[in-house]
Amino acid sequence: MKKLFLISAAILIILLCGCSSQQEIVERDIFALDTFINIKLYGGSEEQANLAQESISELEALFSVTDEKSEISRINSHAGESVAVSDDVYNVIEKAQAVSNRTDGSLDISVYPVVKLWGFTTDERHVPIESDLQSALKNVAYSRISLDETSKTVTLESDMQLDLGAAAKGYIAEKVAEKLKSNGVESAVLSFGGNIQTIGLKGGQEWKIGIKYPNIGDNFGVLSTGEASVVTSATDQRFFEENGIKYHHIIDPKTGYPTDNGTSSVTVVCKDGATADSLSTALFVMGVDRAKELYLNSSDFDFIILTEDGRVFVTEGISDNFTLTDEHSDLSVEVVG
Ligand code: ADP
Ligand code: MG
Repeated sequence: MKKLFLISAAILIILLCGCSSQQEIVERDIFALDTFINIKLYGGSEEQANLAQESISELEALFSVTDEKSEISRINSHAGESVAVSDDVYNVIEKAQAVSNRTDGSLDISVYPVVKLWGFTTDERHVPIESDLQSALKNVAYSRISLDETSKTVTLESDMQLDLGAAAKGYIAEKVAEKLKSNGVESAVLSFGGNIQTIGLKGGQEWKIGIKYPNIGDNFGVLSTGEASVVTSATDQRFFEENGIKYHHIIDPKTGYPTDNGTSSVTVVCKDGATADSLSTALFVMGVDRAKELYLNSSDFDFIILTEDGRVFVTEGISDNFTLTDEHSDLSVEVVG
């Protein structure tokens, strides 16, 4: 009898231990940066989740282009003058400019006058009048943004305006991850819409990240990765339809129109969050052939590109970590590199 009691007690303890390790996942849903954010801390605490939430709010206040008090709005309302900014804003602009230089302006953070005409930041979405578009395009030129490293100032030419929407989320996710790590978090996944930032490993194993099939909505592939930024740009994140034509939010800065080159989604894997985010937008605009060329001349990122006609391109740095899902096992996969 006593033996039976001891065995039952042992089973109970094992069950309780099992439960408590389950309970150690602290999860938080937040709406910020115009996107749904989900934070999962494995072995974390509510205090750490609070810290992440506060950190996101603080950073959003610097970067939001629709908040008149943000640093970005200050740069925009003082075009023609030098504006001193925080290290965070300076760093993102510097990293985005580096990607613009590497991609011949496929990413251009001065595209905001054009994005505004399409209504993507105000939710009054519509096809702009051609002459408005052409005059807005005259003010899109990343090479006319001046940065001064010593004084940490940013200077736009008059009539220019910045939008860090293509780069800031990746930076913020990485920055929040750094803060969590310095506060003892060893395992976590932060999901900012299409931006995933991981910390450490999940139970000693690599994270499994689903790569979404745009418009269909399920995953076409799964990527396993350690700590990294995994950022996806896709046509179904922000779009509208007018006269039966679909217009999405990734603009080709050379034409002022939504990119239309057969790309459906671009996922970039990179250690650096702002670079991952900037590259996901830039590679989308470049299309698969130019993206391949850039990859072959770089060593700091990998990508997964899905085209509208169902071809998947995966760079060799991550090809062993990528698998198609059963539902989409008919897609053709080409390894790049
Ligand atoms: P999301 O914001 O949906 O994660 P992206 O990172 O690809 O997607 O950024 C797209 C946003 O960046 C757009 O909503 C727009 O504000 C801005 N944008 C669009 N095209 C460009 C571009 N070519 N270069 C820089 N910013 C862009
Ligand atoms: Mg981006």
